[in-house]
Amino acid sequence: MAPLTSADGHEALACDIVNGSSGVNPETQKQGWAVDKSTTLYHVGGWGAPYFFINRAGNMAVRPHGFNSTFADEIDIMEVLEKLQEAGEIGLPLIIRFPEILKDRLDDLQTAFQSAIFRKGYRGKFQGVFPVKCNPDRYVVEDIIRFGGDVAFGLEAGSKPELLMAMTYMCKGSADALLICNGYKDAEYVQLALIARQLGMNAIIVLEQEEELQIVLKMSQYLRMQPVIGVRGKLSTKHSGHWGETSGDKGKFGLSATEILSIVRSLKNVGMLNALRLLHFHIGSQIPSLSIVDEGVTEAAHIYCELSKIGASMRYFDIGGGLGIDYDGSNSSASAMSVCYTVEEYAEQVVRAVDNACALKKVKSPTICCESGRGLVSHHSVLVFDAFSVSKLPCGKEHSAGEDMKVLLQYQGLPHDLMVLSEELARFLKIGNVEGALACAKQLKVECTDSFKLGLISLEVRAIADQLYASVSSLMSEELKKASLPSLTKKFGLGISDVDQIATYHINLSIFKSVPDSWAIGQIFPIVPIHRLDEEPVMRGILSDLTCDSDGKISSFVAGDVLGKPSSFLPLHKLEADRPYFLGMFLGGAYQEVLGSMHNLFGATHVVHVVGKSGGSFQISRHLSGQSVSNVLYAMQHDPLSMLTDLHSRILDSLQEGRFGDISEAMLALHMLQRSFSSYTYLSHDHDCHSGF
Ligand SMILES: *Cc1c(COP(=O)(O)O)cnc(C)c1O
Repeated sequence: MAPLTSADGHEALACDIVNGSSGVNPETQKQGWAVDKSTTLYHVGGWGAPYFFINRAGNMAVRPHGFNSTFADEIDIMEVLEKLQEAGEIGLPLIIRFPEILKDRLDDLQTAFQSAIFRKGYRGKFQGVFPVKCNPDRYVVEDIIRFGGDVAFGLEAGSKPELLMAMTYMCKGSADALLICNGYKDAEYVQLALIARQLGMNAIIVLEQEEELQIVLKMSQYLRMQPVIGVRGKLSTKHSGHWGETSGDKGKFGLSATEILSIVRSLKNVGMLNALRLLHFHIGSQIPSLSIVDEGVTEAAHIYCELSKIGASMRYFDIGGGLGIDYDGSNSSASAMSVCYTVEEYAEQVVRAVDNACALKKVKSPTICCESGRGLVSHHSVLVFDAFSVSKLPCGKEHSAGEDMKVLLQYQGLPHDLMVLSEELARFLKIGNVEGALACAKQLKVECTDSFKLGLISLEVRAIADQLYASVSSLMSEELKKASLPSLTKKFGLGISDVDQIATYHINLSIFKSVPDSWAIGQIFPIVPIHRLDEEPVMRGILSDLTCDSDGKISSFVAGDVLGKPSSFLPLHKLEADRPYFLGMFLGGAYQEVLGSMHNLFGATHVVHVVGKSGGSFQISRHLSGQSVSNVLYAMQHDPLSMLTDLHSRILDSLQEGRFGDISEAMLALHMLQRSFSSYTYLSHDHDCHSGF
């Protein structure tokens, strides 16, 4: 069934039709702001559809079955948080997983290929595998095997631990499902893959390097097993995006044409050419356009056909991963954070290219295998965190520029050049030239700081100069508010940041743990407040995390007027006393959790699973605690138990030496220490932290 409302800002329209009213729903309006303005501002319709949208209450909400969701299926993320809070289980940051979204993505991929195969009259079938490196979480892998049972969905591994994990979960999978063994291999890896075949799994060893063949031949002889082998081709096709470096002639992975032919000869020599059944390639993650898919698949399909003609028992054509995600919602190949095709179009392109090559070379159509990771798991998880404070914006309200000016001009012993600058500033202010005043105030601030460092002026003068700059900046922002922004920026040649109007919101999160790609490769994820979206976000903010690291911030966002161009600030609401402010990061289900590091010893976050209940509403089906302080200390080889013992004896010494008033104070300190070892590594908003005893 088609959804009642689309996620792209037509919410209000659909409500009107349902309500039979003609105006805007008053509930969706606060001071002239409507929910659909937020939808447009944060581009939710672009990156969120069909799973995420802003509901009439002004909260981020989820359609867990995508386009197949009904009105009753919709889940309000704030309601999830409220439910957790009622149960006393809310601890932020928190990952909310929606397994139903995962299922919908898997079904979508499967259906897209099956339909393309049907439309084209293609004579092979489709079989997907999930590359576990993308999200090796136990429940994600388990769910994929469960959801893909009917369609023989398999797994891809690239290391020994991944292979052992994949083998274990495939015990519950379909016997036809593929177990693709990629990555660099030693004898032990090859043994594991051969054992998987002995256990009745369809394990295929994909040779990444020529030398691996000798290991495979030796181990197969040793275990008296006939292996099934694939080769990873190195294509000349590469894409220009960040993730394109893995492909192309100089790419890190794969075998050249010469190396593939050499492997074929070696296999022929030992009478095992029939073991070679699969060709694998991987153009790179986040392939930006279909033309690159076409080029890569066509090139690989010809290699496949040649191998078949040489006499290998070719059967599987493995197109690797690379299905892209539209992170910024711009649906364009021009933006590195977007792609301009759908899953359906991707599948169509792949099937067409394989079909054409096979028809041309008169080779039997292979089973098409796809290793999409990002495309499968990005959507199903939402990271929720809170902003707990905001840095003060320079504010000229308490002092007027005029008062500060007077103090400065009357100041005895101001160096001559600073006096000249001050007088110039006073003149600009007098004639109301804010533009000139701002430039002057900025220079004055810089020069006062320099003079201060040389010991020429007092701290008091320096503070006045800072304050003057702040006052003039706020005068300027008043001007900016009055005029439309583009005309002013043109007139003054100013960027918003020049007037210091961007506030820093402090977030209860470690970017290194939860959004590592934002720091490492400048990737942009959509971040949106998950409530108050029926209110105008009057602030411009960047986000700064808990770590003591200058890189622990996010200053590029999906928001603003221009689609496909990152914004240097995020529109945000004013923080209100006694009311938490929740933000959500979306589309981060791939790679972020596993790439995250423990910088400053912030650990893994809590995770909950949320699924719909029949007849509407939802339930929290799983609640997994994040790492405690003890856990992260342990991971760095510390022994929390002996740490506590050491601290305990130090408490006893201190008690004897009289540093505690009495024994109950010492006991209190001990309790607090104990408690901290078992607590969450992030900020707790429980101010009464010694309650409970
Ligand atoms: C990483 C990887 C994938 C997954 O790529 P996505 O872009 O996440 O789809 C698939 N195959 C191989 C060999 C990989 O290295």
